[in-house]
Amino acid sequence: MAKIYYDQDANLDLIRSKKVAVIGYGSQGHAHALNLKESGVAVKVGLHEGSKSRKKATDAGLEVGSVADVSKWADVVMLLAPDTSQAAIYKDHIKANLEPGNWLLFGHGFNIHFGTITPPSDVEVGLVAPKGPGHRVRETYQNGQGTPALIAVLKEGTPLDLPLAYAKGIGATRAGALVTTFGEETETDLFGEQVVLCGGVSELVKSAFDTLVGAGYQPEVAYFECLHELKLIVDLMYRGGLNYMRYSVSDTAEQGDYVTGRRIITDETRGEMKNVLKEIQDGTFAKRWIEENETGRKSFEKRRAEEREHLIENVGAKIRKLIPFIDDVTIKPGD
Ligand code: NAP
Repeated sequence: MAKIYYDQDANLDLIRSKKVAVIGYGSQGHAHALNLKESGVAVKVGLHEGSKSRKKATDAGLEVGSVADVSKWADVVMLLAPDTSQAAIYKDHIKANLEPGNWLLFGHGFNIHFGTITPPSDVEVGLVAPKGPGHRVRETYQNGQGTPALIAVLKEGTPLDLPLAYAKGIGATRAGALVTTFGEETETDLFGEQVVLCGGVSELVKSAFDTLVGAGYQPEVAYFECLHELKLIVDLMYRGGLNYMRYSVSDTAEQGDYVTGRRIITDETRGEMKNVLKEIQDGTFAKRWIEENETGRKSFEKRRAEEREHLIENVGAKIRKLIPFIDDVTIKPGD
């Protein structure tokens, strides 16, 4: 059984007695910085010259400095810039400002696991990786709940107390902080987002929507069926697993699950999942993603622009506006 820690296992004073620099103020950075501040921790945010996040952070009442200055000031540096920028930020602005005994923390193990950052041996290295998007880390903290996290230390024998205290500061131990390793977190995180959470679900939703629309059904009906209702189903799974979902849906829907699921996720798909995992484990995915960033992100930006114009997005934006209790968020070019 995995080791999971909760609020009562973590000592908030440990992180309250440290100065914490949060590098980056994006999805995760804003949540960590604000949650820590409200948990009574001394926090500064580190951002690059001309960062568009700077105003948001200062407007939220946070002190912002250069990455080098806040890293020098801090005892604990949490690196929450984009994964593909972290190695350069570390080399140019953080490395020289770390002192023996300082902590370098990560929200995802990518750069440590794939060897693009190698901290000195007298610095402690830890992981506090929330298992949810940064905006949920903030929202759940504010409403008294929390987002679970995976925690780890790099060096065998280093106590987990500090990452655990940090996890409490961002509200994660309210839901549970599960002990892992950098390798396990990195590989399972990449696999989960590619195969299920982002890649798998997006393609499934779009392919099903396109099939219905292509067969002449109304796009609005296809939207409700293939995207809107997904949340209602996932909410059941979240509360009681697949069994509760199957208990709640009609027997007809349950029969559809049993007879059709394996026609959609075929042996070929399962084989491809293994190939995806292998490319994550052997570093192929990381290497290609780093190269894509180093060469101007051309295919990434092209796909992003195409996906934002898919019919399902236009239909969805109109439908959501007509449902009063949906807090609609429409992503615009440049967001
Ligand atoms: P993000 O939303 O893209 O935000 C990145 C932040 O870093 C922005 O504030 C950006 O500033 C800033 N930044 C960019 N270049 C910088 C530089 N050279 N120096 C200092 N700051 C810089 O990133 P994210 O999605 O939160 O990801 C951060 C980390 O959390 C990653 O390791 C990621 O894997 C991990 N993580 C993310 C999530 C998630 O929900 N997104 C979940 C779990 C773990 P500008 O605004 O000026 O661009």
